[in-house]
Amino acid sequence: MRERPEGFIPAEIGIMLERLTEGAPVVILDLEWNQGSFYTNPRIPHEIIEIGACRIDAEGQIGEKFSRTVKPQIYRQIDRHIQKVTGITQEELDRGEHFSEVWKDFIRFAENARLVTWGRDDFPVLRRNVEFVQARMPFEPPIDAQLLFGSLFLNSSTHQMNLHSALEEMKITSEIPAHRAVYDAEATALLLPRIDEKLRQLNEADLGSLKAILDREKRIALAKVMTFPTSYTSFAEAIMDRRVTHFRCPVCGSRANFAVPWFDAGKEKFEAVARCHSHGYLQGNMHLKKSAKGKVVISQRFSQANEEQVKTIKNKYRAFKMIPENKRHHRLEMRI
Ligand SMILES: [Zn+2]
Repeated sequence: MRERPEGFIPAEIGIMLERLTEGAPVVILDLEWNQGSFYTNPRIPHEIIEIGACRIDAEGQIGEKFSRTVKPQIYRQIDRHIQKVTGITQEELDRGEHFSEVWKDFIRFAENARLVTWGRDDFPVLRRNVEFVQARMPFEPPIDAQLLFGSLFLNSSTHQMNLHSALEEMKITSEIPAHRAVYDAEATALLLPRIDEKLRQLNEADLGSLKAILDREKRIALAKVMTFPTSYTSFAEAIMDRRVTHFRCPVCGSRANFAVPWFDAGKEKFEAVARCHSHGYLQGNMHLKKSAKGKVVISQRFSQANEEQVKTIKNKYRAFKMIPENKRHHRLEMRI
């Protein structure tokens, strides 16, 4: 048996999960966030107000914990619905620390770890909050324990069972109270040994398809999503603007070269394929709509793409090219 540095996934819970985390220690992360009750800042629609986490120690038990409240800078008043769900009060928020401080400490807490979350919502929110304060993001997208649980116990990777129902399903009773970030992290920890046990029973083929699902999730999590208003009143004008059509890699931010230029895929939706030197094929999706004032608003999504996705877009582009030019609704064909 090879030696493991302290804190690495112990054999008793880790034989299979380890193959998914490549031997890295596990930190389970859970976030709570606030939102605007009356307005939304498109750069940060959800503002983190609590980071909770726990390490899995060398015995497979819940180890060191992390629980900090963040004082929001954008949505300073707690939204009524959020207060109801999280139980976090305005007084607690007012006593919270700045996100940058808490994030710095969390990075130290979770150094070199592979994050695990319940559900796929936390990471995109975390990324936006980190970008908002221009901090660094040293973590890969988390492994989604909810997805593993759904695939392994409910025969569906898309069945999003809530954490406490999952505990009930497994007949795990715990004294852990609901709905604070750190408690949810601990409750997720209770499910890991069961998930791992089930992972061990998978044959190679099933493990392979589960890994493919996790890969796809990772690409989705690394996607860059943004929405921004323009001063244009017509779609045709908006999509001629270089600031709208330029394509950057969502992972490293470098400029990507088009393999398929932006083209009209129907219903004010545009698609494109580009390549990054370091991250391979990328896909771009863009949706145009009009604001109440009649100005064009652009929503874009850039993500890594696999061969199959690239092939699908190429086929759509071919079909688009078959449409006679005067019948194409909008013409967006950049020279590449
Ligand atoms: Zn890249």
